[in-house]
Amino acid sequence: MIDLRSDTVTQPSEQMRHAMANAAVGDDVFKEDPTVLALEAYGAQLFGKEAALFCSSGTQTNQIAINVHVQPGGEVICHEESHIYKYEGGGIAKNSGASVRLLPGDRGRLTADDIAKWINPSHDVHFPLTQLVSLEDTANRGGGAVYDTTELAKISALCKELNLPLHLDGARVFNALAVNQMEAAAYGAFYDSISVCLSKGLGAPIGSLLLGSAAFIEKARRVRKVFGGGMRQAGIIAAGGLYALKNNVERLKEDHMHALLLGEALQNCTLIESVLPVQTNIVVATLKDPAQRDPMIETLKNKGILCMAFGPGMIRMVTHLNFSELDCSFCLETLQKM
Ligand SMILES: *Cc1c(COP(=O)(O)O)cnc(C)c1O
Repeated sequence: MIDLRSDTVTQPSEQMRHAMANAAVGDDVFKEDPTVLALEAYGAQLFGKEAALFCSSGTQTNQIAINVHVQPGGEVICHEESHIYKYEGGGIAKNSGASVRLLPGDRGRLTADDIAKWINPSHDVHFPLTQLVSLEDTANRGGGAVYDTTELAKISALCKELNLPLHLDGARVFNALAVNQMEAAAYGAFYDSISVCLSKGLGAPIGSLLLGSAAFIEKARRVRKVFGGGMRQAGIIAAGGLYALKNNVERLKEDHMHALLLGEALQNCTLIESVLPVQTNIVVATLKDPAQRDPMIETLKNKGILCMAFGPGMIRMVTHLNFSELDCSFCLETLQKM
């Protein structure tokens, strides 16, 4: 089976497994796991941040960040289709007792002007205190859309001016960096906290990093423990993440090339109405007839290709490091016949 449902389906390579099996480990709750410490230092330095925290998932890093930044009753500004709101099980309310201001925006992205309009005046007691702005880059629901860095600079300046923390759900931040060509450290300077997934396009089996100032990460470490996320000999999995950061970033542009080809092929399918312009490794297509979505997914499955339903009349394909050139050719041929 060729699995394009998500970039989370990757299998650790032999070399990655070797790194994991041979990792030096210790008790990470005691801060004694040398591999976790190495991964945290490497990630923090890469994005120009003082510190990092290794966590079990991207949901956990996002939820910890929200919990540190926001007080109960405070408000988070985010896109209406953002992962932190839509796909984290109501965690903003459940974990942090916070209110959410959902904004529309082109392909999962917000603008500084839109954000500015919805920052509540703190002197008026009617309104919840706006305490966090959270962005997603690339934006999953936006079909892997990448933020324009000029807009990011504006959003960052606005937040800094108002002393409002800015968080990045960077589950696929390296896919964004491959497109916007920014240095990770310069890009990191836009944000107060960053969540990076090691288990998406980077191909590690488990884990995410939360990055920020030393003071922020100290608070985050406490929240991670409270959320049940303190792990012991976590170096075994951190080694996979460190291997991924050192070896699997450069190759992301291959995934983008494959996604571009899949997008073109889908566009030529008679069943398909439109495809969101492909910028990274996510392809989102809308069918002419929404009722044909599940039959199309079934037909592809019978031909050995898995993709995912992505809302009414929509399908999603995501390329990743286990999707080879050969797999891509097979998919293109198959789609051509549809
Ligand atoms: C995958 C993902 C996450 C984190 O998901 P986990 O499965 O909890 O690691 C966060 N944000 C976005 C946009 C994602 O795609």
